Amino acid sequence: MSPALGQNTFKYISGLLALALLAGCAPIPGSPTEPKPSLATSTQNYTQIGGSPVDAVPLSMVPDMSTVDQSDEHRHIFTQHFKVTSVPAVGEAQRGLVELAMGKFDQGNVPDVSAGLENSGELNIRSYLTAVSPNVLGIRTAAYQSVDSVGSNRFLTQWFDTRKGSVLGSRDLFDSADDWADFREFVAQTAASNPLIAPESVTQLEDAWLDSVNFDAQGNATVELDDAAITAGTAQSVVVTVSASNIIPLLSPFGLMARTAGMAPTPRLPAISAVPWGNPEEPEDPAVPAPPSGEEKTVDCTKAKCVALTFDDGPGPKTGKLLYDLKKADAPATFFVVGPNAKTRPELLKRMIAEGHEVGNHTWTHRSLTALSPANIRSEIDRTNEVISAAIDQPATLLRPPYGAHNSTSDRLAQTPVILWDVDTLDWKHKNADKVVSSALSQTRPGSIVLMHDIHSTTVAAVPRILAGLKAKGYTFVTVTELLGKDKLKSGETYLRAPSTAKGSVKNGGKK
Ligand SMILES: [Zn+2]
Repeated sequence: MSPALGQNTFKYISGLLALALLAGCAPIPGSPTEPKPSLATSTQNYTQIGGSPVDAVPLSMVPDMSTVDQSDEHRHIFTQHFKVTSVPAVGEAQRGLVELAMGKFDQGNVPDVSAGLENSGELNIRSYLTAVSPNVLGIRTAAYQSVDSVGSNRFLTQWFDTRKGSVLGSRDLFDSADDWADFREFVAQTAASNPLIAPESVTQLEDAWLDSVNFDAQGNATVELDDAAITAGTAQSVVVTVSASNIIPLLSPFGLMARTAGMAPTPRLPAISAVPWGNPEEPEDPAVPAPPSGEEKTVDCTKAKCVALTFDDGPGPKTGKLLYDLKKADAPATFFVVGPNAKTRPELLKRMIAEGHEVGNHTWTHRSLTALSPANIRSEIDRTNEVISAAIDQPATLLRPPYGAHNSTSDRLAQTPVILWDVDTLDWKHKNADKVVSSALSQTRPGSIVLMHDIHSTTVAAVPRILAGLKAKGYTFVTVTELLGKDKLKSGETYLRAPSTAKGSVKNGGKK
């Protein structure tokens, strides 16, 4: 890494930290800026979770781009960021953002619910591709954080000069110091007209607040302002738009390229060593027999010793390998997918159905549903069902709420059964295949629903041994619907495991 890159990375990562620190601080007195005469600009507010002033660009435009998902189920942390094989700076800068935010979140002393403490916070970080060309990448990262039920959104856009392999920020989009100052003034004056923005914050507009600049399809610049930083204590995010005619004269040569890449994205040429988008890890093995056609296998779980393996948060880069192992063992499972991952890998959803698995809904942004409005809960479920339907011609008939967090409102709005679990392998915590195997084998009882995450390679690596171990104990693998019985499942009811049977399972429709 060049010294310049390191400084830039630090500068813009520091920007995010600065925003976090600034939130809630008293305004510092400053002198108003001289107003400019004409402004063809506007502001808008949006409330949709992860909402954006610009449309996200399909990830397939960057052939060697992949996502890195991480979760901490106990502290209610879910993050997704990008890496690009041919541009290592992308992964480094993105990981830096996530690690910084996670460190800061931990410093907030958020209790670990595994220690029996009530969780009061949540951290959700997600990145979006906003601009692509052979020379430029724009990546917008949205972070939602709540502590003690007070939530706020932060936004940051990282720009990458892929010829140099360097990470850049908003300031680099502009030419001279005067051009940057003019841009700030355009933003300040437009912001001043928005009633949600405190007037005093406009007069002391910090550079760090302008760290999420993008370009819409018309070539206007959009600036996302963080909740609570510049806005007057509102939960809404505010976007300031500076018109193309005002912005063009101010841009640096890189800024002009970035504008074109945001306005009219063009795919990057495949890198020579590009990993094909999809299932790079999936082994080819023609020896695996196709499932016998026309032969419907039915299992009576009131008589057989059944277990439902469930995999959340995917599909991910290792899901193809997992499907291979499940098919080899003739073991149906249930996948609770998150919307953006399902949208990225629809062919894996098709394959799940074709190979006898079940696909459930795990929401779009993986936010705790208990912290959302009814409209946002529905939107989280519906958006995900749209991409599931697009892939497999039917919406999910089961919901797994992120973190298992649910209440009577979210249960009612689910409009499907709500599926929890009784065996938690803690695979996301240990990231250790041996531990995943031992907890799955030691905790599973007849009728169990086992929680795992197919985004972790250690989990996928553990599955063949879990399948062999449970099979040796006499278990039959079934989907959640098969386990609980299609006719017995009720919309809005919660299920931790199969209802009681002669095998000693327990009925538990209670809350987790
Ligand atoms: Zn999850």
